[in-house]
Amino acid sequence: MGLMTGKRGVIFGVANNKSIAWGIAQQLHAEGAELAFTFLNEALEKRVRPLAESLDSNIILPCDVQNEDEMVAVFSELEKQWGKIDFVVHAIAFANREDLKRPFSQTSRDGFRLALDVSAYSLVSMTRCALPILQEGGSIITMTYLGSVRTIPAYNVMGVAKAALESSVRYLAAELGEQGIRVNALSAGPIKTLAAAGIADFKKKLSVAEERAPLKRLVNQEDVGKAALYLLSDLSSGVTGEVHYVDGGFSIAAG
Ligand code: NAD
Repeated sequence: MGLMTGKRGVIFGVANNKSIAWGIAQQLHAEGAELAFTFLNEALEKRVRPLAESLDSNIILPCDVQNEDEMVAVFSELEKQWGKIDFVVHAIAFANREDLKRPFSQTSRDGFRLALDVSAYSLVSMTRCALPILQEGGSIITMTYLGSVRTIPAYNVMGVAKAALESSVRYLAAELGEQGIRVNALSAGPIKTLAAAGIADFKKKLSVAEERAPLKRLVNQEDVGKAALYLLSDLSSGVTGEVHYVDGGFSIAAG
């Protein structure tokens, strides 16, 4: 019996085998979860499909989170195939490269809207669509970063989006607690992924984190996957509305 045996859920945010969502998927599968996956577009489907199939998944659906119809379609397909689900993993973010490069005061209105829509509002709409089929005891997690509560060079509009995301976690948790549904965020330290490539000087962030973290090492997809396993399993049955740091302690290190 694994920690997730008998549990089913959907993972949004695998782009390739470096994705944090993929690290989470592997941990969940190893503990017996049944998984469904979504992909953003056809180009990514080619990468996501074989990965998903390697974890015995045969529910692999398109979803651009800006497209409400696609989001609704994902959950109606899950209802058709499974009836109810136990968890949702939201590991999605996007901002225009130009908006991340410019000084923060120069962020465009459209760029601000886009970053907040894809990276924060999507958790709200995803939760709304998932609710009718989420079991009591269900768990939702999202991925955030320290730039939500501190100014991190070049994180800019994404920091603001993550602040909105973390606040959304608290409001959703407060609303859904009565239904026995938990909502939490994991705040990961810097990890080399496709999304991270959009952040200027990312290499520098990696070396600063490694130097300052009490663990004296960077965290990786497996570290985040294990923390996700805790938040999605019954081990965290009393935990909701929280932001959990998986960053080797970087967020609490002085200096
Ligand atoms: P990634 O590039 O592997 O994943 C980002 C995902 O977002 C991709 O799968 C992409 O397809 C998806 N996405 C972007 N726009 C979308 C849209 N409109 N609709 C649907 N999907 C969309 O990178 P990652 O680092 O694994 O990012 C996953 C999450 O982790 C993000 O929320 C990111 O901000 C967060 N995070 C990353 C780090 C890091 O250092 N890599 C640190 C903390 C938090």
